[in-house]
Parts: sequence; structure tokens; C-alpha cells
Amino acid sequence: MMITIISFIARLLNNKTRDKRFIKRLATLLLIITGLFSSVYAVEVISSSEKPILIPLPKEVKWGEGQFIVDSKTVIGVGSSMDEKRIGEFLQQELKDIYGLNLEIVSGKRLYREKKTILIGKPENNPLVNKLCQERNIFLTEKKIGREGYVLLVTPKEVMVTGNESQGIYWGIQTLIQLLNSTGEKKIVIPTVKICDWPDFSFRGVHLHFRGVKDNSFAKNLIKNVLAKYKINTVVLQIEESLAWRSHPELGGSLTPESLSEIVKIAKNNFIEVIPEIHSACALQSGFRKGFHLDLAEEPSPPYVNYCFSNPKSYKILFELNDEVIEIFRPFGGFRYFHIGHDEITLRGGKPGSCPRCKATGKTPAQLFAEDVKKHYEYWKKKGVKVMMWHDMLVKGAGTGHGGPPFNIADSLPLIPRDIVICDWHYGPECPSQIEYFQKKGFKEVIGCTWRNPYNIWNFTNKAKRANALGMLNTNWVPAKSGHFWGFFHIIYHADCTWNSGRRPPSELPYDPAEEYRIAMERKPVKKEDAGLQFTVDLSPYCNRSLKDNYKFSGWAARGPKYDLKTFPTGRIRLKGILFDIAKGEKNVVMLKGTLIPNLPKKVRGIKIGKKAKKLIFLHSCAWPTAEKKLVGYYRIFYKNGGTKKIAIPLRYGYEIGSYSSFWGIKKAKLVWRGKMESGDSIGIYAFIWNNPFPEQIIEKIDFLGMETPASPALFAITGIKP
Ligand SMILES: [Zn+2]
Repeated sequence: MMITIISFIARLLNNKTRDKRFIKRLATLLLIITGLFSSVYAVEVISSSEKPILIPLPKEVKWGEGQFIVDSKTVIGVGSSMDEKRIGEFLQQELKDIYGLNLEIVSGKRLYREKKTILIGKPENNPLVNKLCQERNIFLTEKKIGREGYVLLVTPKEVMVTGNESQGIYWGIQTLIQLLNSTGEKKIVIPTVKICDWPDFSFRGVHLHFRGVKDNSFAKNLIKNVLAKYKINTVVLQIEESLAWRSHPELGGSLTPESLSEIVKIAKNNFIEVIPEIHSACALQSGFRKGFHLDLAEEPSPPYVNYCFSNPKSYKILFELNDEVIEIFRPFGGFRYFHIGHDEITLRGGKPGSCPRCKATGKTPAQLFAEDVKKHYEYWKKKGVKVMMWHDMLVKGAGTGHGGPPFNIADSLPLIPRDIVICDWHYGPECPSQIEYFQKKGFKEVIGCTWRNPYNIWNFTNKAKRANALGMLNTNWVPAKSGHFWGFFHIIYHADCTWNSGRRPPSELPYDPAEEYRIAMERKPVKKEDAGLQFTVDLSPYCNRSLKDNYKFSGWAARGPKYDLKTFPTGRIRLKGILFDIAKGEKNVVMLKGTLIPNLPKKVRGIKIGKKAKKLIFLHSCAWPTAEKKLVGYYRIFYKNGGTKKIAIPLRYGYEIGSYSSFWGIKKAKLVWRGKMESGDSIGIYAFIWNNPFPEQIIEKIDFLGMETPASPALFAITGIKP
């Protein structure tokens, strides 16, 4: 309606026969009309003064009024240390790569208060940081923020990131980067805020497996763009089967030592500690499988799980591999911890202590195992390196306790050195932590290890926090290469939980880790959709279903009123900066037939658009879940003058669309709303943004077509972005 009024008046104004006085009066009228209209409009639209979502959630955040504007005249003012200069260069590079802004770095006598400066450094190294801390009563106490904490201050005049140590300052810069909001014209806006932040755990690790990995580019991107961005401070690299060993090419793979060096370098440059891992059993196993060193195989026939614990030749080979790792790490100052693996050695046919040589010793498998661990431990102790190992062979019983009969390896526990770091892994949602068990047995450093289940990460991290564990290690068992792109997004949630545990349960996350992961890996600026260019589509003539359900099960998902979508707002609403028009009244949604909701049309044709758009934003969901990647439906786009030209947009479950009750992992859509059902369960609604390849053509209409899967697709709104 608004557009009709404006175009009508514009047409009148264009008419040259009208006199100037008339135009003036008309202009006034236009102002009154728009004024009236926008006030009505404002009532309808929910305010979108949303603050940026920070991940991990900082400990103390105080938002202010106003903003700091970064433009080409802003400078980065760094302290005198090499680290501070490096951090300044890192920020400079990020601003250049992502926002196309090239800022100058200044230090020493070139630091002026008058300039708009992003100040970086410790107070003792940067006089302007020192001054600002004094003026603002900011005292960096070791006790509160520690080594990894930071204070970030944004005022309209200046930005400051400071801390006790470089690592903390670097984490502060990562938070600052999350606050940047591009306006699109080489200008970035940062909301004013004061953040004081520090982590819950001193060990926040990610384990990466390199089986079959030849190329280091994915691992490097992941470390730089995800691990560092979300303040992970340790990465464990499991390499026994993947490194091209110089001393034993028959054991490894094709990841060159140079490639490994590059990974270590990237990690170190991002203040991330690296822990190499050689699972000793796997190291020799890969040789056995190819027919090498079979004299050392504990089991007489395949699958050859273990090497002989009683044969000194086993250790000669394993320690040669260790020596190579030491050489690779030497230019980077070595490493503090080494992970020896040692999990699951009785699984898949493993029979430790069964060979004639081992039997002749008269020792139990547990005693042989303990001696084996001690040989590795002694090797590393001489080099000043602490050993880490998986926990499972040291416990008996259900779940991950693999130390039970018949080999009873868990009996070795009293013989295991107490300064070995135990990595206690459990991957189920209700993970039974054994951290306290190992602590009671005298192990001071115990780490909880998770994988990708959100409740596994949430529950275990909170248990580990209560047990005062050293930290958390998120293990990843898909190889660290690009074909497994989506195997790693849960790392972001792990990072959030380990920095600030107990704050964001999976179902109440204000973000989807999959979306964050995609954005982080793509390294593109996140731009808000221009409010002035948005137009909505009236879907009310096509709506066939209510968001409300009843006990006849004829609404929403046919699951009853407790599990419906009545809490989702209707009308003109703004979600994450996007204006949507959701039909009010009895029918609010266009839903298609599914195997669970059969009494609906299989397709809805001819949804009228009649406009040009550079993007279309579909606010949609599924009434029920289905298998990941399953095609649940598609949109067919028809162009007005394109004759037969039409485009199909596939809707794959977990990619472009998800169920309203899914709370994470929708990989190509944007979480725009989070709420609760009457049952108290959390729900989330996602928008899928489609880039139109033909923005110059008028989109005449859209067909919405279903595939009759269990997941009935449902369309709430379509918003266009004008070219
Ligand atoms: Zn043996």
C-alpha cells in the first residue's frame, strides 16, 4: 500500500504540467502520509536493537550508548613488545581481508591520543593503554582475569584491548572482531561496550585426526578461522598413520613434515599450543597391515592390533618416530605434552600379552601394559615432556571401560605414573564422567573429552567444571580434510562451553554453530540486509494451516497444542534485521503434504511476487524431522519475461531447511528466532537466503513443491531484497 501511494505521488510529481505550488503542497502531504504510515508501521515492527552475539559468551559485558566508527583514518596503536605488534598486524590483516580497510599501525612516539585509535597492549608497554586504564579505573588483577583474560573497552572515541599476557590480549582482539559490523562503505561500526573476560578452563583443546590427509590447507583454515576465533588454546594432532615418516616410510602416509610444520606454525602464531599424538599401537599396525615388521606383531594373524610389549625392537621403531616429531617441532620451541594414545587395544581382535615372548615373561597383560606405558613415559620425561593418554584401558565396566576381562588391563592403574595426564572420553549425551575417579586415584591433571553430540559437550563440560578438571578436549574422528567440512562445527559450541561453562544449554543457544562455522570458514563480512531495500510478500491467500494446534490435531504439526507454534509471532515482524510478513488470523502458514500429515496439498502453485529481487529470503521450517540431506521439497522460480526460464531451489533437510524443534546444525540457513513451546521445549525458526542469479528480471511467481517425506515443509514468509 505504501509503495502504491508513493508511486502515485511520484507519477503526479513527474507530470510537468503541474505548478510548483501544487508540488510543494503535495510534498507536505507526502511527508504527513509517510509520517503517519511509519508510526503505524513502527508499532507493528518489533525493534531490532539486537546486540551482537559473542561466542564464547564473555564473563562480564556492559553495553553502552553510541558507537566507535572505524574508517581509513583510524589507526592501530600497539605496545612495544613483539607480540603486541604481531597482534596489531593480525587485526590489520583481518580488517583488510574481510572489510577491505587498510589501517596504519603506530607505536612508541607516534601514538597520539587525538587520533581515533584502536589501542592494543599491556599497560606497561603502551602508555596510552596505561593512561586510559587509570582514567577508567581499570585494574588488571592477575587473580581475576589471569593469563588468558582481557579487558576490552569501546567508547565513541577509542577502542582498547588489554590484558596481563599477550595471549589474553589476542583473545580480546578476537572478541573485538566479533563486534565489528560492516556498513558496506569501507566503514565499520563497533557498539560501545566494556568487556572483562576470562576462561573457566586453562586447557581448551581440539583433537584432529589426520588419517588419509595429504594436504594441510583444511587444518590450517580450521585452526586460524575457527579454533583461534573461538579462543581454543590447544590442538592435539594425531599423525601416526598420516605423516610421511623419514625413518619409516612404510608406517606413515603422505602428509609431509613441511606440511606439519606449517600447521604448527599457524597454531603458534595464533597463540595455540600444539600437542603431537602418536597412538603407538596404530603406528605399528599400519605397517603390519602392509606386511612390515610382522615379527613385532603381538597377534599372530590379522587384524594385528598391538605391537609386542616385550620386544625392544618395538620401542626402537616407535622412538625413532618420536625423534622425528621432536625435530619438526624444534624450530617452534618444542612441546610441553605428548599424547601416546593407548586406547582400545583389546578391541577389534587385540590380545595384549598373548605372544610367546610376552608369555615367557610370566607377567600379566596389565603388568606388560604398565611397563609399556612407563617406557614411553621415561622417554619423554628425559626430554622434559609430559605424557597424555586415553583413559579407557585403565577402567573396567560398562561404556568406555575397556580394561575388564579377559585381559584386565585396568589392573595396571596402580603402576601408572601419577603425572601422566588422563584423557577421560565419553561421547553419549548423559556421559558418566570418570574425572573424579582418576583424581581420587592421585592423577592431578585429568581432561574430559567430548565429541559432537551437543548434550555430550554440555553435560560433560559442566561435570568437568564441578570436578575442577584441567580442561576439555573435543575429539574429532573424521579426518581433518575438506571433504568433511561439516564434521567440525560442534567445535564452536565446545569452545563456548569451555570458556564459560553452564551458561548456554544446547536448546537455548542464540546461534547455530553450523551457521557460525560456515561464516567463519568463508571469511566474508557479515552484512545486515539493507532495511530500505526489503519488501515482503503477502502469503495470506495461500496459507492453509494454523500455527496453533488443537486436540483434533488439525493444526501445525498435528502433535497437539503443547507442541505447536502459537508462541511464534505473526504480522509484520523484524527478526535478525529482516522484515517478515506472517499472515495473521486462522491460517498463518503454507504447509505441504507429508507422510505424517497427509491431508494437505502436495504443491502450492503460483505464489505471486511480481518484483525484481537480488535475494529472496524464505522463512520456513518442517513440521517433523527426517534424515539429514533428504530432499523434502523445493521452490520453483518463474521469471516474467524469461519464457521458459525457471529455477528450482532444492530444500534439503539440515541444509536449507530444518524442523522447528531442531536446535542446531542447519547448515545453509540462518537462525532468526528462538522460543519455547507450551511444553517448555525450545524451538528455533530459520531463514534461508537465496541469491538470485537474475536480479535484473522480474520474478513473476513461485511454486512451492513437496516431496511427501515425514518432514512436511512449511513456509511462513517470503521477503525480497531489491536490487
Ligand atoms: Zn609380546
